[in-house]
Amino acid sequence: MRLAKVWQRLLGVERTVVEQVVFDEDDGVIVASVRPRKGATRRCGICGRRCSWEDRGEGRRRWRALDLGAIPAYLEADAPRVRCAEHGVIVAQVPWARHKARHTTAFEDQCAWLAAHCSRSAVEELLRIAWRTVGAIVTRVVADAHARHDPLEGLVRIGIDEVAYKKGHRYLIVVVDHVSGRLVWAAAGRDKKTLNLFFDALGKSGCARLREVSADGAEWVADVVHSRCLNARLVMDAFHVVQWATDALDEVRREVWNAARRDLGDKVLADRLKGCRYALWKNPEHLTKRQRGKLAWVAYSNARLYRAYLLKEELRLAIRMKGEEGIRLLAHWLNWASHCRIDAFVDLARKIRRHRQPIEDALRSGTSNALIESTNTKIRVLTRVAFGFRSPDALIAMAMLAVGGCCPDLPGRQTQPRLELRAAA
Ligand SMILES: [Zn+2]
Repeated sequence: MRLAKVWQRLLGVERTVVEQVVFDEDDGVIVASVRPRKGATRRCGICGRRCSWEDRGEGRRRWRALDLGAIPAYLEADAPRVRCAEHGVIVAQVPWARHKARHTTAFEDQCAWLAAHCSRSAVEELLRIAWRTVGAIVTRVVADAHARHDPLEGLVRIGIDEVAYKKGHRYLIVVVDHVSGRLVWAAAGRDKKTLNLFFDALGKSGCARLREVSADGAEWVADVVHSRCLNARLVMDAFHVVQWATDALDEVRREVWNAARRDLGDKVLADRLKGCRYALWKNPEHLTKRQRGKLAWVAYSNARLYRAYLLKEELRLAIRMKGEEGIRLLAHWLNWASHCRIDAFVDLARKIRRHRQPIEDALRSGTSNALIESTNTKIRVLTRVAFGFRSPDALIAMAMLAVGGCCPDLPGRQTQPRLELRAAA
């Protein structure tokens, strides 16, 4: 292999001529002078069409490449401008980096992969870049992936959900494909206008193809879905129903706790009740031995709170059973909850009656709640990880990497056949 080819491989570039490589003593970095190969010159930075030369632009500039061993590396090249018939005067495309990027494509892909797999501090430290730069990079990587594969193609069953971020001050609308379990669309906002943007992007034929749309029971979502998706049935996202029951249970726990603390002045009892929060909240099959003990103590010492717990569990069971069995259990639950004389659950029974049809439809549908729930949980975790990003676009891009199937392969691994190393016999 010729030396120039070796450098090309080391720097992770294609369709590029490596003219010279020097070690910059002042900055302690390796700088490779490069230029696009013949066919790759004078192309529009956006559409890649061949254009006429305009001017030298801002002269020579550098792109950060992957480190070579432990030493930071840069590519250096001219950055001329061209005149595109569609995009006007624009910086010419280069084969080693995305448009407007200050890092090479290999660097950006590695950065995106790391962002999806490692902690924030690990990415910052390993790549020597700020978290905000990571945000800009993942946004570009995801836009690139979506340009190559449209995530809205062929959708049949989707789920629409709202996710809070910035400590609950802002919201995202997220759309998940129930078939693949992937996040396919997200935007900042929580209103009809924003949701309509999704159906605009999906287009008329895309909307007509939808058969089932699940949502959290919000009226504004139902309005938009009914006006845009004429062939789709709107069903309830069942895990939201379980969430309502958990919230109602928590309300009862707080009431009992407050009564112990304030009215009875019993601090020991109040503290013990406070310590039961997770035991009441978790699914019984996941309880630790200690938590099971706490639950037994609630059953023994506080009949009202324990009844609320059983109400939550029966509703969860109905949702989990699904089908006609689940629907029968739901009817039993409604009857029980309506007469339980615990305000939070009487209110919940009323709410569930209001949404009974879409909930029953959800129980009849084959959609896996576990899949949607896990995708939604992952997105909620990400809203905390991505807190340092300035724009919601970066948060959305992070979610697309993690649960949207947009994470690139590590550089140099895409076409490599799997090598099997065997010791000589
Ligand atoms: Zn163009």
